[in-house]
Amino acid sequence: PAPRRVLVAGNWKMHHDHLETIRTLQELGLRLPEGASSRVEVVVHPPFTDLRSAQTTIEDRGLPLVLGAQHCYHQDAGAFTGEVAPPMLARLGVRYVLVGHSERRRLFGQDDQQVAATLQAIRRHGMVPVLCVGETEEERAAGATEERLAAQLTAALAGLDGEAVSALVVAYEPVWAIGTGQTATPEDAQAACAFIRGRLVEAHGPEAAAVRLLYGGSVTPETTLELLRGRDVDGLLVGGASLRADSFAAIVQAAM
Ligand code: PEP
Repeated sequence: PAPRRVLVAGNWKMHHDHLETIRTLQELGLRLPEGASSRVEVVVHPPFTDLRSAQTTIEDRGLPLVLGAQHCYHQDAGAFTGEVAPPMLARLGVRYVLVGHSERRRLFGQDDQQVAATLQAIRRHGMVPVLCVGETEEERAAGATEERLAAQLTAALAGLDGEAVSALVVAYEPVWAIGTGQTATPEDAQAACAFIRGRLVEAHGPEAAAVRLLYGGSVTPETTLELLRGRDVDGLLVGGASLRADSFAAIVQAAM
């Protein structure tokens, strides 16, 4: 069988202005190993103000990178000061949009209903939602990880059939591992991803098995290979280690 194409996504959060973005992408272009894009789909999720610069840099230089966004609103247009609409992102060539990241849920009050509406809006405009789910430290300690994951999936994906689910990306991001330097063990990441895939098949039908699952939480070049050994782990969502071209390229290299 053809080797699976791994997805490696870099979430830059609120880092890099548009000039730093151009510089980082140019350096990434130089550092990415030859032939990387045939084995690994590499996505960057810069801040909104950088998207146009990122798009032109990727296009002008023919870089093997795909454009992602970190967030959007669920309406197409209107009096929503400060928000960005999905069609604006689609017009810019954005392919992947994060939704339900724990920082949006925790710091900005994004609830399950908003996550579901945003996910639908992203799909409606032909982009791919990257739905983030994960348990907190307390939920983990209480043995409630699977219950939490199931509840987040149910709320976000209500009404979708298996085919629709198969086109999504779901990122398992244990909240206690994000930005903490604490990584889930490869066994824990695999177990959670296997649970998510099984749950999606149970709830949405057999086609849902083709959904792509990422692990996220303090991934580094050193932990990449082991994490990707899990048979249900199809890729990685990387925060801190994606900010510098050298470490992000090393993660892509390890993922090949
Ligand atoms: C993230 O922001 O999704 C993330 C996993 O961050 P970090 O890699 O920095 O933990």
